[in-house]
Amino acid sequence: MNEADSDRVASALEHLGYTYSPVIEEADVIVLNTCVVRQSAEEKAIGRLTTLLPEKRKRPDLIINMMGCMVGIKGANPLHKRYPYVDVFSPPSDPGPLVDFLIQRDFQNEEAAWTARRFALMDGDLVLPGPQVGKQVAGFIPIIYGCSHACTYCIIPYRRGIEKSRPAEEIMSEAESMVAQGIKEITLLGQIVDRYGKDEPTFPTLAKLLERLSQIEGLERLRFLTSHPNWMTDELLDAVATLPKVMPHIEIPNQAGDDTVLANMHRGYTTEQYRQLVHKIRARIPGVSIATDIIVGFPGETDAQFQNTYDLLAELRLDMVHLARYSPRLGTVSQRTMPDDVSDDEKWRRFRAIEKLQMEVMGEIHARYLGQTVPILFEDKAKKRWRGRTPTNKLVFVDSDADLHGQVIPVHVTWTGPWSMLGELVK
Ligand code: SAM
Repeated sequence: MNEADSDRVASALEHLGYTYSPVIEEADVIVLNTCVVRQSAEEKAIGRLTTLLPEKRKRPDLIINMMGCMVGIKGANPLHKRYPYVDVFSPPSDPGPLVDFLIQRDFQNEEAAWTARRFALMDGDLVLPGPQVGKQVAGFIPIIYGCSHACTYCIIPYRRGIEKSRPAEEIMSEAESMVAQGIKEITLLGQIVDRYGKDEPTFPTLAKLLERLSQIEGLERLRFLTSHPNWMTDELLDAVATLPKVMPHIEIPNQAGDDTVLANMHRGYTTEQYRQLVHKIRARIPGVSIATDIIVGFPGETDAQFQNTYDLLAELRLDMVHLARYSPRLGTVSQRTMPDDVSDDEKWRRFRAIEKLQMEVMGEIHARYLGQTVPILFEDKAKKRWRGRTPTNKLVFVDSDADLHGQVIPVHVTWTGPWSMLGELVK
């Protein structure tokens, strides 16, 4: 979501005549897009901001914009006091405050400022910043902003506001524009992406939206994330199973494999319901890959409850586990009402136990690809090897001197490990 937001800011700035620079000392404007979903992310953002202070002292004209979840949707008053050298604070997904600031600074009369703002914000279909045009193969489109589910541990609804689906026409034109700029794969984003359109009765379902997006010529692949188990409909599974451009890849967080912990998290389903859903997805979409998110060390999580999560993962053998140690986020229900009583050491122990299990599971799943021929969409060259992904979102590396950028080519898999595979082009 933040990558998509950053692209949107970069694009808005390009409309104002700015160009991207990777060199801080050369930049006139620095946008620090922040994440607070875990403590470590927040610390990283603060660390980065602190390193910008000497540069600002050297060049008072430098504009520093702090954006994203650290700022939140309610404005930035306490941050103003803590970081007086930050010129502009922007909520997530909104380039507006920075664009306004730059326009007001750069243009003298209101008329000129208004025109420029219209150009910057209303020509919203250009979403890739210049340096990425023709280079980037995979792009993201947020289709729902915010979230209204209120999991007890989660800060997102407080920072990104209530759920709001974007009109299908807007998404279509953004996708068409991205494809025209060289994008081959689009991932639709939402905190609960399978709720797309539920807040607006006239909007299509996610399945219908995927059907429409599939018709875009030149677009090779579509994905969507993240889904919530309670909103995964048969219609959506059928769309994934039958639309050739929609990849067999489902991201469906479980968070825990214990019913008491799930209830304390306010997730709204049981372990058995999650298990049945995984069986259903696998039955409907042959060869599907399923990824999950897991939090270990949630308040009150006992050894036995953690073991239930471990056992469920050992049983279901999912393709990917995005693993996190619980961190209390200020203002959330769990932070206010549940003591963070699992020690750091214990959280790490649980984290490493699942990490080890998952390495084995992934090694085992990848080994099934050995000797198979799989269509790979190539993205870029890393350390002399071309890097691409399978339809199931697994990384594959291939040695080749040819330019494979943005192409889908069959690859014969010759080696597999837990994190990636090697292969040879099938001529
Ligand atoms: N909205 C989706 C959902 O909750 O199913 C996923 C997106 S969420 C921003 C990314 C992941 O961060 C969550 O799935 C969860 O595993 C993790 N996460 C969120 N809040 C957390 C917290 N307080 N401590 C640790 N991990 C957290």
